[in-house]
Order: sequence, then structure tokens, then C-alpha cells
Amino acid sequence: MRRPTCTVILAAVLWAVLSGDALAQRDFDAVEVGIEVVADGVYMLTGAGGNIGASVGADGTFLVDDQFAPLTEKILAALATVTEGPVRFVINTHFHGDHTGGNENLGKAGAVIVAHENVRKRMTMEEFDASVGPTSHSAPPGALPVITFAEGLTFHWNGATIRVFHHEDGHAHTDGDAIIHFVEANVFHMGDTYFNGMYPFIDVNDGGSVQGLIEVVSHVIDLADDDTKIIPGHGPLSDKAELRVYRDMLQSIVRAVRAGIDRGLTLEAMVQEAPTAEYDADWGGGFISAERLIEACYTSLADR
Ligand SMILES: [Zn+2]
Repeated sequence: MRRPTCTVILAAVLWAVLSGDALAQRDFDAVEVGIEVVADGVYMLTGAGGNIGASVGADGTFLVDDQFAPLTEKILAALATVTEGPVRFVINTHFHGDHTGGNENLGKAGAVIVAHENVRKRMTMEEFDASVGPTSHSAPPGALPVITFAEGLTFHWNGATIRVFHHEDGHAHTDGDAIIHFVEANVFHMGDTYFNGMYPFIDVNDGGSVQGLIEVVSHVIDLADDDTKIIPGHGPLSDKAELRVYRDMLQSIVRAVRAGIDRGLTLEAMVQEAPTAEYDADWGGGFISAERLIEACYTSLADR
């Protein structure tokens, strides 16, 4: 169900910000790409856009996400400080441009791009909404995943097991999310199902839902232990205890929004009630405001 409301416009604007449309306005020269050790052979890279995960070793480098195209050289330079191996695989956690922008460069350099089948679908589709007209997600052919999966797949790489799975609910941050589990290293990369220290973006227009997002997060909490390291899509490196706090925050907000819907509140009245108030100081400082989160929750719950 599509709600031709300001949700659509906001999502289109955010999409533009996160995708190549905004590249011309961004100054990537000033961005520094950092690299930190997460576990033996596993690294997290920061810069602009989504956090990158990397397994490095004798087989070559396996990357999770690749930020924006103008940053590829800096990303490769950061990797070169820890390995001489080429990038052999890139897995995209979802289709957004701040996670897939380097695909074309890395593909040309010989990497195999892998993602959920809905990532490839969304990277090629044009959508039409009455309020904004046609919006295109089209990426250059060289940026598209060449191997896609529906439920998951496993890599046996650098002497380790890397499990990739799409949660069975199917709808979380988008409808094409992948969670990556570096099994022996005890590390997860959660893509944008986890914003550490910030309210998450739930892309309801592209198949996301807050209920599914909470289910994915709960599933990772079940699989994790006290030593697990968790790479969020955005924000600093994290762990199970912090992920649980994030999940509990979202569950509490969802309960309040559901109660408001049951009482017949409109979205505007729901926002007025400020169901996120007790969390805003800790979580509202990112690029998703309390109002945006309430709207995403309201739309998710009203639609399903
Ligand atoms: Zn995203």
C-alpha cells in the first residue's frame, strides 16, 4: 500500500541525499577514510556513508559495502595499510547509494558484486508516485550485483566462514537487507538495520518496516554473545548490550505508536503526542528526527 503523503517526498529527498544525485554537492576531498581492527582479519572502515566491513587474508579481501564512488581510492588506500590482496568480493547490505556507490569502480577492478535479489531490482527500477512523479534508482550496469540470493549464502574465505542472510520477515530497513556474520571472528555487520546512537532510517517506500527491523535486530541479539562485535550501518562499532538498548528503545516507541493508532490518532496527532520524548536526547541527534521516526513507525504499523 502506498501512501501519497509527505513520507514519499521525504523518502525521495533522503534517497537523493544518499545516492549519486547529491554527489556533485558533496566535498569528498575532505573525507578521511579510517580503518580499525574489529577482530583477527576483520576490519571496519569509516569515511562518508555506511560503515564498511572487511575480511582480509590470503584469499583476498571480502568487503561489506563500499560507500560513495569518489571514495574508492581512499578505501583501497586504507585497505593497503593492512593487506596486499585485491578486493575479490563486495557484498551490499542493501541498495542505498551510500552503501553501493563504489560498486562500479570495484567491479571494474575485478571484484564480484553480491547482494539480495531486491538490491539488484531496486538499483534498476523506476518508481512512480503521484506526489513526486517518476523517481529513478537506476545505477550504471557495472554497479549491479552479478550474484544475487533470496534467503542467504555462505562464503568460505580466508580460512573462515562468512554467513550472509536475509531475515525471513523480509522487510526491515528495506526489502533487500543482508546481515553478514563473520562466524569464527564473532562479528556481525548489520547494514542499516542498526544505526548506533541515532534513530534509524526505515525506508518504508522501499519495503522497509519497523516490525521487521525489530525482528532482525532481535535475531542478531539471539545469535550474539557478550564478546560479539557489531558493525552498524552508521555510528561507532558496537556490541550486543548496546544493540539490546537500541532494540528496547524501538520496541517502546512502537508500542506507543500502536496504541495511538488503536485510539484512532492521525499521524499529526501522533507526532503531537511525542511518543519518543524520553529518547530524543540520546537518539535524536542523527539525520533522522523524532518526527521522521514516528512517521516511519506509524506508516509501517498502519500498512501491515
Ligand atoms: Zn540505507
